[in-house]
Amino acid sequence: MSGVRVVVVGSGVIGLLTAVECVRAGAQVDLVEQATIPSATAASYDQHRVVRTLHRGDPRSTLAAAGLHEAWAEVERRLGGRFYHRTGVLTVTTDLDAELALLAETGIPVRALAGAELADRYPQLRLAPAQQAILESAAGTVLADRALQSAARWLRGHPAVRLHPQSRVVELAEAAVRLAGGEVLAGDSVVVAAGPWSRDLLPAGLSAGLSLKRQTMLSYSPGSFPSAWSRSPAVLGLGSTGDAWLMPPVAGTPVRLSAASACRTVAEQSDRQTPVTWRNHLIRRFNSLLTAFEPLAVTDTTEGYYLTDETGQGPVLAQLHDGVWAFAACGGMSFKFAPVLAQALADRALGRQPRLTGVTWVDLPHRLTDQPVRT
Ligand SMILES: Cc1cc2nc3c(=O)[nH]c(=O)nc-3n(C[C@H](O)[C@H](O)[C@H](O)COP(=O)(O)OP(=O)(O)OC[C@H]3O[C@@H](n4cnc5c(N)ncnc54)[C@H](O)[C@@H]3O)c2cc1C
Repeated sequence: MSGVRVVVVGSGVIGLLTAVECVRAGAQVDLVEQATIPSATAASYDQHRVVRTLHRGDPRSTLAAAGLHEAWAEVERRLGGRFYHRTGVLTVTTDLDAELALLAETGIPVRALAGAELADRYPQLRLAPAQQAILESAAGTVLADRALQSAARWLRGHPAVRLHPQSRVVELAEAAVRLAGGEVLAGDSVVVAAGPWSRDLLPAGLSAGLSLKRQTMLSYSPGSFPSAWSRSPAVLGLGSTGDAWLMPPVAGTPVRLSAASACRTVAEQSDRQTPVTWRNHLIRRFNSLLTAFEPLAVTDTTEGYYLTDETGQGPVLAQLHDGVWAFAACGGMSFKFAPVLAQALADRALGRQPRLTGVTWVDLPHRLTDQPVRT
């Protein structure tokens, strides 16, 4: 691949790991970012992102996620730094037998927990006696901001990479991008990974089908159950509708609490101040989901944005011109898939046979396939 030049737009997890893949394959890379590299406003730039195999009621994503633990361990080894922690992931489920049968196909070791054992292990969770859960002990939590810093450091030190921070792309052309200042950066191909800003760069027909989501999270530093919290896994599927989740306190970070009920469709990315109604909404919900919930232990709130397609199903890959690929809608669960999405994007940018074809990966994650690519 020596001599091939790839322009990557965006230094979120997808852009950074795609740039790393291209460089490892011998390409020259221009990484263009409208803010700093990495940027604290990127969807990826947060304390925690969960890497799990089980996606309840979604066999294709579950099968696709089976290799992600190893993929993240490999990314960590390659980039250096310590950002992938095997905290385990506990998923509360109402369909234990079906989920266990599905997970058996992945070969991932899991354990079913119920009743007294579940309550004894996780006294900080307020679970009904009949509730059942699946523990993936090998699953983990990526300290996302640290992973992004490690990737940026790796790229910064590489002679095949030119970094262009504070450079906003305003137009895409065949294998080239135009920056706000008028400069044109050309390559053999372009990968656009602009996260929730993607609609600004995509053709109207494509961006019209994408929807911007905003979600509130609470930072929580509880005083009760210190030992249970210190070994807590990430927990998903909490609440009667199964939509609430928590990310565990890893390496000095607070617990993060949120729920799909705190996610709403918005017209644009505006401020990052949490409206008090959404803060109170989550406090009310977790008051009934955690034992001895302490409202005063809510130390902060965070707003995150991401872009989904109208079905809400996840990422959309679009070929916009010859040699211009856009990871158009990151969705609310792409971080964990980033190592494989980056490989698939790099394969296309480098004109290689995409590695995700032919097997159960074909239409996973969702639109990242050879066939249903949108143009
Ligand atoms: C609250 C919340 C919780 C989540 N939890 C999880 C989870 O547990 N597990 C999981 O797998 N996923 C999770 N996700 C989803 C995941 O974080 C995102 O899907 C993923 O991080 C998107 O990465 P990205 O690189 O596509 O976009 P981003 O990280 O947003 O990166 C895009 C970059 O492009 C830059 N950019 C944009 N436009 C331009 C332009 N015109 N010119 C130059 N640069 C530009 C931006 O500044 C930004 O740095 C969560 C998301 C949220 C909001």
